[in-house]
Amino acid sequence: MRGCLPSNVVRDEVAGCLRGNRAAIEAAADPAVIACWIARAIHHLEALAEAATLAMVAHSNGEPAMRTDRQDTIHLQRCVALASEALAAGDDPFGSVLVGPSGDVLAEARNRETSSADPTAHPELALAQWAAGHLPPAVRATATVYTSGEHCPMCAAAHAWVGLGRIVYAASSSQLATWRAGWGVPAGPVAVLPVTAVAPALTVVGPVAPLDEEMRLLHERAAQRRAAH
Ligand SMILES: [Zn+2]
Repeated sequence: MRGCLPSNVVRDEVAGCLRGNRAAIEAAADPAVIACWIARAIHHLEALAEAATLAMVAHSNGEPAMRTDRQDTIHLQRCVALASEALAAGDDPFGSVLVGPSGDVLAEARNRETSSADPTAHPELALAQWAAGHLPPAVRATATVYTSGEHCPMCAAAHAWVGLGRIVYAASSSQLATWRAGWGVPAGPVAVLPVTAVAPALTVVGPVAPLDEEMRLLHERAAQRRAAH
């Protein structure tokens, strides 16, 4: 029984256990000694497996760091696909998905700033407005917004005013600002702030690798297209 260890500690301990016992077994000549080292390794690995299970349970309960799980990844991948659709349609690559408490997708949106000639046509704002019109407050509070890029201050404020729940994003606003500065894209008119600077009570998770890198590539294509015009 090792208690609830962080998963990276469990992983490192498993690697160390396998390495150490392998060295001991390779150095041993007596079959009884070899059997003893194998039994030690099994005992150690069983304890680590228990610790890993406890870490998994803590993870699914949202403790301690509320990292992403497989469902989060699936929804974020959909956001990246929506961002790619937006880019193909001439808009900037941003996509978002609103997911209900049982994991069902309630609504999707993508950026339409260029195609609708509306600089506020951000997907996160569209989802907040959809939720305000379609969901009772209790359901909104349990819904998660997945998004390819962290909410801008306008969308973070809308999210908080509407009373939506958790935000999970692939790439952060500061990542995007850094990438764009590197490509020579002029800064926008709104300050680059983390969601929690606008709405401190929100639960926010991100950035999520390797999807942030996928988003960097999409934004780079958008920057190249902008430079060519
Ligand atoms: Zn926005």
